[in-house]
Amino acid sequence: MTEKYSFDQAKEEVFQLRTKLEQYSYEYYVKDNPSIEDHEYDKLYHRLVELETEFPDLVTGDSPTQRVGGTVLPGFTKVVHEIPMLSLGNAFNKNDLLDFDQRIKKLVEGEVEYICELKIDGLAVSLKYEEGKLVQAATRGDGTVGEDITQNIRTVKSVPLRLKKPYSIEVRGECYMPKSSFLKLNKEREENGEDVFANPRNAAAGSLRQLDPKIAAKRNLSTFLYTVTDFGELTATSQEEALNQLDELGIKTNHERKLCQSIEEVCQYVEAFHEKRSELPYEIDGIVIKVNRFSTQEKLGFTVKAPRWAIAYKFPAEEAQTIVREIEWTV
Ligand code: NAD
Repeated sequence: MTEKYSFDQAKEEVFQLRTKLEQYSYEYYVKDNPSIEDHEYDKLYHRLVELETEFPDLVTGDSPTQRVGGTVLPGFTKVVHEIPMLSLGNAFNKNDLLDFDQRIKKLVEGEVEYICELKIDGLAVSLKYEEGKLVQAATRGDGTVGEDITQNIRTVKSVPLRLKKPYSIEVRGECYMPKSSFLKLNKEREENGEDVFANPRNAAAGSLRQLDPKIAAKRNLSTFLYTVTDFGELTATSQEEALNQLDELGIKTNHERKLCQSIEEVCQYVEAFHEKRSELPYEIDGIVIKVNRFSTQEKLGFTVKAPRWAIAYKFPAEEAQTIVREIEWTV
């Protein structure tokens, strides 16, 4: 495609793409009100990645490909994430998953065990517990600095204010709005002549990023937590063990997770959720595949934006789903 593309042509297209992506990110992350579908955003983003790969001199630190998330809203106290809250690399078809497996096998010896988790379509949050007590909750923000949403998170019933053991840990996951609550909320808003939310993800984000906690309290939000960033007294040596230990502390994790011994098994799990997705009471936009053992994760490390030991498989857009699946999945 870009064979005969000159540097100047690429530079111009990169500029156009960045301008668009920055505007869309602002609408999505700051306003919680996107104007385009996620898959359209992803297409533009991947075109930018393509051009930056072919013309590496065009990569700049402020490119959307080098940054995570959005910015912090005024009115909120800022929280600095000692360990950055990163994004994930994306896969869109089976080949991308096979490539991910190949990249890993080049860097680590022997068999690799994966854990598949649902990719919950909500807002990433980080919760800090001291001696078992919830002391702070923050949004991801730009990955390094987030918003202090402790008062709002306290209203979410699935979040324990006190753990079953007096542990000091930091744990991250997704705050989401169940599909039924989303439909109810939009119906009410419509009846009151208010703007409706584009999707449950934006409704959850808009609810948590309210200065008045009474609003979040009314919105029936829930959580699934999936990452331990400060282990405190926890002794897990794998993601599976970590999730089981969170369960024991009374923290809500998602139980659709599955250990897989090969990438083929991962692909079967992903394929199954193309169908099961619509039956779930909450929105998912893909499957996250992680290397299970922490010692292997450590060997693989991180890029600027994401861990090398995980990837997010994104489902095709709903309306194009059947056709895309037939073309892309059966490689
Ligand atoms: P991402 O959606 O590609 O995935 C990373 C995120 O997945 C993590 O940060 C985490 O919050 C979440 N996640 C959910 N379940 C998880 C699990 N089990 N384990 C680990 N993580 C899990 O990346 P992103 O940086 O959050 O967002 C980028 C995406 O947002 C884009 O690909 C696009 O789809 C969307 N977006 C849309 C617009 C728009 O205008 N429509 C604008 C900006 C971004």
